[in-house]
Amino acid sequence: MLSNIITPEQQEKLTSLIKESETIVLCCHQNPDGDALGSCLAWAEVLKTCFQKEPQIMVPDQYPDYLQWLPNSEKIIRYDKHREGCDFVLQYAHLVFCLDFNTLTRTSEMTAALTASPAKKVLIDHHLDPNVDAVVTVSRPEASSTSELVFRLAWQMGCFEQLGRHFAVPVYCGMMTDTGAFTYNSDSCDLYFIISQLLTKHINKDKIYRNVYHNFSENRLRLTGFVMYQRLVVDAQRHASYFTISRDDMRRFRFIKGDAEGLVNMPLQIKGLKLSISLREDTEKDNLIWVSLRSVDQFPCNEMATRFFNGGGHLNASGGKLLCSLQDAVDKAKEAIKAYEILLK
Ligand code: 5GP
Ligand code: MN
Repeated sequence: MLSNIITPEQQEKLTSLIKESETIVLCCHQNPDGDALGSCLAWAEVLKTCFQKEPQIMVPDQYPDYLQWLPNSEKIIRYDKHREGCDFVLQYAHLVFCLDFNTLTRTSEMTAALTASPAKKVLIDHHLDPNVDAVVTVSRPEASSTSELVFRLAWQMGCFEQLGRHFAVPVYCGMMTDTGAFTYNSDSCDLYFIISQLLTKHINKDKIYRNVYHNFSENRLRLTGFVMYQRLVVDAQRHASYFTISRDDMRRFRFIKGDAEGLVNMPLQIKGLKLSISLREDTEKDNLIWVSLRSVDQFPCNEMATRFFNGGGHLNASGGKLLCSLQDAVDKAKEAIKAYEILLK
């Protein structure tokens, strides 16, 4: 059985907030991933099915092609495309759920509108150091995903019985994508209890896996091969690697959003490698490099992301960005690897 994740007082507060709010918005971080979208879509199902609400999901910007099959994803509104309408809604919203981020700045261009919104906020998240002025905060850094937290809330609130596939599918998708298909951060037995419950809603978990991971274009597969062959630099002595993806590389392989997703995990397939860093030029802005880090065991790539790449994240999966050229970013990565050589040994 699952333990409760909020106190009875918090549960009562959350329930009354939902009941008394007419306009409800759900939002997540920029570059939404499977967990960001999954948790929003699943929580929206809870609000619709169990509270008869009509919540609006607003995301800061485009989400990847490999998530467009998610049921109801077509109803999600992109802030970057509908700024005026979104600003208007946020100005009059009664309640905003902040899902899968710990600080409003992670919502990029939506930050100002969210800060200005008089709506009460509820935070549901699994990143460290929550920093949102919320009336209810459900922050569980030990959780696999925000989608897991959404499940546990629905379970605790007695909503699960009424919910169907449109709830179960995004929850499974979010838990799966935030654990690399249950290959890291996935040792809690609760996760498998949750999965067994989701299966009672007749989800096709193998199809969900294929929808997400076997959804490459030919170009994406060839980009993978190219990057691993031509762009990967392995520092075998320090058990670390980095690779770059330039705008030219992206043009060559007709890069679309999401095509770089997961590439950073691949070098960790090398025996003994402990750290992988990905450095990718922005598709439009000059001197903006997106950084992703992955590590194994106890190597704290979130600490490295904070110290060297203006970011943060989880122990084994973090990210950040640099405002510099790709070459300068390479130098920074080398510097970071060198600074951590003792921990990497
Ligand atoms: P990804 O490499 O998939 O972009 O990000 C991996 C993890 O790092 C995600 O869980 C994400 O939340 C976190 N992350 C990515 N970028 C940032 C950032 O700029 N700041 C912080 N604090 N976390 C980040
Ligand atoms: Mn997440």
